Formats: sequence, C-alpha cells, structure tokens
Amino acid sequence: MSEPVLSVRDLRVWYGTARGSVRAVDEVSFDLSAGETLGLVGESGCGKSTLGRGIVGLLPEGAAADGTVSFDGRNLVGLPTAELRDLRGPELGMIFQEPMTRLDPLMRIEDHFLEMLETHEPGLSRDEMKRRSMETLGGMGIPPTRFRHYPHEFSGGMRQRIMIALALVLRPKVVVCDEPTTALDVIVEAQILGILQDLKRNFDTALLLITHNLGIVAEACDRVAVMYAGQIVEEGPARRVFDTPAHPYTRELLRSIISLGTEGLQYIPGAPPDLIDPPAGCHFHPRCPDAMRVCASNDPVAVTKAIDHRVRCWLSGPHNLVPAGEDEPLATREFAKADEA
Ligand code: SF4
Repeated sequence: MSEPVLSVRDLRVWYGTARGSVRAVDEVSFDLSAGETLGLVGESGCGKSTLGRGIVGLLPEGAAADGTVSFDGRNLVGLPTAELRDLRGPELGMIFQEPMTRLDPLMRIEDHFLEMLETHEPGLSRDEMKRRSMETLGGMGIPPTRFRHYPHEFSGGMRQRIMIALALVLRPKVVVCDEPTTALDVIVEAQILGILQDLKRNFDTALLLITHNLGIVAEACDRVAVMYAGQIVEEGPARRVFDTPAHPYTRELLRSIISLGTEGLQYIPGAPPDLIDPPAGCHFHPRCPDAMRVCASNDPVAVTKAIDHRVRCWLSGPHNLVPAGEDEPLATREFAKADEA
C-alpha cells in the first residue's frame, strides 16, 4: 500500500451552542492515498460535511477542532489561516454542493479562473493562465466559446462542472467533494463521476467523496467510510463492505437502497441522535436490531477485522471484550419506532 497523502487521526470538531456543545466529529481517523477515492457515507446530520470542512480548515465561526490532519509534513489542525489559505487551491481542493452560491454572479467564468491562478501561480503568463484554464474547462466538457460567459448563463450541471474545473485548475493533491452531484439529473451525475474518475487516473489525485448516495460509492470509490453520529463506524474496501457489511448500521443503510427490484420501502426506524446529547454507549444502540445490554452503556472501540477493514461494534470484537451476561439482546428497535410515532 502506498504512503498516505492525507492522514487523519483522532479528529474532533465541536460547535458551542446555547444548549451545549455539538460533537459533530468525534475522534475520526483514516488515511487517504494518492489516486484513491474514499467515499464518506451516512445519513444527513451525521457529521460528513463538517468532517470535510474540518480537513481543509473551512469550519464556520464558533467551531473548534483538535486532533491531527497530516498533510505534506504539517498538521492542518490549528495551522494559521494564512498558511491554510496558501494550501487551499494548489494543494487541497474543495468542491461544494451548490455551485451558484460559490460562483460570483458578477464575474465572468474567465475571471474566476484568472483570479485563482494569479493568486496561487503568479509566475504564469496571462496567456499560460488562459490556456490552462480553458484546457481544464475543456476536460469538463465546457467549450472555450463559453469562457467569457457569466455563471447565470450556464445550466446547474455545467456550473457544477465549472466548480470542479476551478478546484482542479491548480492540480491539487487532495480534493474533498461534498455531495458534488446532489440536485443534478442522473445523466449529469454520470458525467461528473466520469470526470472524477479521469481526474484520479490522470493526476493521481486523492478524492474524499462525501455523499449519502451509496450507488455513487459503489461505482466510484475504492474504499468507503460509514459515519454515524460523528464517528466512523465501519471503514474498508468498498466492494467488501458492500458484499459483507460488518456493522449493523452499514447493513441497514444498504438495505435502504431503492432499486428497480425493490419491493416495499426499507428504512431504519428512528432518527440520528442529537449530537449535543448522544445516547450513552454505542450511539446507534437505540436503532440497532442487534443491540445487546453492553451496547447501552459502553461505547465500542474500533477493531481491525482485516488489514484494511475496521469496525466499531461489540459484535465485531473478540467475544471476551463483552463482559459476562452483557450480551443479552436489548429490545431497542421498538423504542425507536415509538419515538418516531
Ligand atoms: Fe448494534 Fe451494539 Fe454493534 Fe452498536 S455496538 S452497532 S448497538 S450491536
């Protein structure tokens, strides 16, 4: 296995609110190698986007982080804003969900690119900047004739491709893509996924792909990390996790996928917990069909099932980790259903 280009260890992110501290990311660890795509999945509100933003140092005001995000010999957590700004763009890219909110409606597409290159690669000639910009846009299927158009003159799918081109024009080593295809139709979605695949092939870019769409992960990702209540509960090769999910939450998520052959909707009873006051023990226990007594009081640690497959569940650890008598079933599913009603 190649050396990771990004290494996250025990990353925590929390927000102060009037009600208390929201633990949005709770001791998350993973590695990302060059040319690899890691899919980060989970229900809304489980901390995926906060984790992505925490990695590139784009947390909103009021958020705090600790832990380690090792990149290029530096810990990005706590790095001065000016140093982080220098890294974002040329080294670390981020693609957001809503391109229209990120593109300045008063600036031509050309000016977005030139501004980016003038800031980070001032040594390039203007002609070289234009050539590089148009080449990157061309790779996204945007013809050079559209270079001087304004954002509102493009469709939603084209704007998203422009955002991706902007994130890539500086050839970053790592790109965090936060729901890059949400709200796009399936044809544009397929185009964008194809572009991301080309990207890692051509430039060896490492991608962290945040999505709630497991179909995208199956198609585009080498590995998958499943997040619940701010924690990574399972992480491993995408194919293996899909074929033999080890964590009950992963299993339930996979059962909820709707396909042409789906008969009757499957869903996980209950809702993700309030991250100000998550349940004691395993945070998934009120919704888990396999919960045991131990789960209600003791948070499981992540165990290695195989060299590249980690699971945070009492069922996956050596049996002697569960205290005697604590492996009796807990009838939690009915509580989750009652909460819902
Ligand atoms: Fe379910 Fe217990 Fe595993 Fe949590 S630790 S996922 S409650 S079996």
